[in-house]
Amino acid sequence: MLSGAKGVNYAEHTREEGTMTSDDKALKGRMMVGAEEAINQLLAEMGEKEDLKLSDIERLVRVAGEQVMERFTAQLVEAGAQEAEGCICPVCGGEARYKGQKVRDLITETGEVRLERAYYYCPHCRKGFFPPGPTVGPE
Ligand SMILES: [Zn+2]
Repeated sequence: MLSGAKGVNYAEHTREEGTMTSDDKALKGRMMVGAEEAINQLLAEMGEKEDLKLSDIERLVRVAGEQVMERFTAQLVEAGAQEAEGCICPVCGGEARYKGQKVRDLITETGEVRLERAYYYCPHCRKGFFPPGPTVGPE
């Protein structure tokens, strides 16, 4: 069992935050939580094993890495989508109404991610749409 992995002090790693916006800081906090959850799960699974083979470690690290990639992708896409508040209809250019968050599945290079994205409805076109976020694969 590895020791010293709990109670990590992130304060020493935050020197760069002086130049970050508050949005970036909030996003960084969420990303750290996501990474920490993956690390905690990795260490918990390692702790359950009696004798750990190199192949076990490789598998666990790969799983943790994939989790971190999926979480980071989802969080960054979500962060980009949130900037599109107050949306213009892409068809008629009129003002679209915010209709709340809708779940949307996206296939990305780092796997499938489930996102809650802002959903809008244009009363002129009578169509709903997701505002353009970062381009992450086929729409
Ligand atoms: Zn429209």
